[in-house]
Amino acid sequence: MVRPLSEILPDDPLLMMGAGPVPIPDAVARANSVVINHLGTTMSTIITQVKEMARYVFQTRSNWVLGVAGPGSAAMEMAISNLVRPQSKVLCVVNGFFSARMAEMSRRLNADVAILEIDGHRAATLDEVEAALLAHRPECLTIVQGETSNTVFNRELPAIARLAKRHGCLVIVDAVCTLSTMPLDMDTWQIDAVITGGQKGLSSIPGVSLIAFSDEAWERIAQRTDSNSHWCLDARLATNFWHKGSYHYTAPVSGVLALHEALRLVCAETLPARFERHARCSLALQQSIEAMGLQLFAPTASRLNSVVGIEVPRALDNGQVCAHISERYHVEISGSFGLPVVRIGQMGEQCRSHNLFRTVHALGSTMRDLGVKVDLPTSMAALEKGLQIPAHRGIAPGAI
Ligand SMILES: *Cc1c(COP(=O)(O)O)cnc(C)c1O
Repeated sequence: MVRPLSEILPDDPLLMMGAGPVPIPDAVARANSVVINHLGTTMSTIITQVKEMARYVFQTRSNWVLGVAGPGSAAMEMAISNLVRPQSKVLCVVNGFFSARMAEMSRRLNADVAILEIDGHRAATLDEVEAALLAHRPECLTIVQGETSNTVFNRELPAIARLAKRHGCLVIVDAVCTLSTMPLDMDTWQIDAVITGGQKGLSSIPGVSLIAFSDEAWERIAQRTDSNSHWCLDARLATNFWHKGSYHYTAPVSGVLALHEALRLVCAETLPARFERHARCSLALQQSIEAMGLQLFAPTASRLNSVVGIEVPRALDNGQVCAHISERYHVEISGSFGLPVVRIGQMGEQCRSHNLFRTVHALGSTMRDLGVKVDLPTSMAALEKGLQIPAHRGIAPGAI
């Protein structure tokens, strides 16, 4: 017997503190409940504003900003399938699961793929990327800014992107978990394609994503004589909807309205204030975890702030920790593709002090319940201390 949703959804909703999707603001949820004409004048205003706000969030003046109906991976496939042709030489910097996905997508397009595998859960260095660029002479490079799977941050991305450009190579960046949580300056860093999903840094719903191409990337797309084998992801066809007010496929109107609202909230907060909030919350979380007596997974120099990886004590496995914290404390956190790690997200609405206090308390209590000795009071105090806003910053109380 199929039960109605009202019976299936818990009264006390789970707090979504994993690696995405993340909680959405009420205004985004309201926008997501509306259906309008996908080709009417209201939609046309929405599209214009989404592109304008997205340009600010991507830090680009490029005209070639588009929405995508689909997950972050669809935006990824749109970037790659439009820029990478059969036999194109592609260099894929692979730090983990998601950057490996870009290599797999390139392979499926029958590109000539070289992989720079970075092992040891650390960031790629400029030197190793330069050596790979010289060895393979690629037309396109793919790289992830933040590798959500193992919480590695490619800190050298700005220098890597500029270096690749000096070698005449287009740069495709996966910013699914990082966009709007930390600086990414598409134009200044000379990136040719940036992709993101809705359900992470932007705190919108999953299923509607964003992509931006540079003018140079668009040149390559416009001059292509063969056609992209992905009809839905063909960037030239997508301009029918995103630039010409006509039909490509029926856009996910509610999701686009939700994305509009999420972007509006990002713009109202401003990027500098948003980056500051993310950094402060994530560092406070990291300090509180260490104060509890647990270890962070990624080495400091390569550590991502947007998703925090925590080593699971040997006596436990991560599935057990995730199940207990969810059932007992109604907080969702994530395991990690085969690693002995649990992950707590610090993206968008996850970076709020009330969510952090509840999460750290739930994690420490879970450890105690499962027989691991932790120092929860010291951990909570470290969180409180880390969250305090330096008075000279002048941020209004309640901002987090
Ligand atoms: C989540 C994520 C993806 C995949 O996004 P989906 O919406 O699940 O397709 C890709 N890259 C990174 C870095 C991510 O965090």
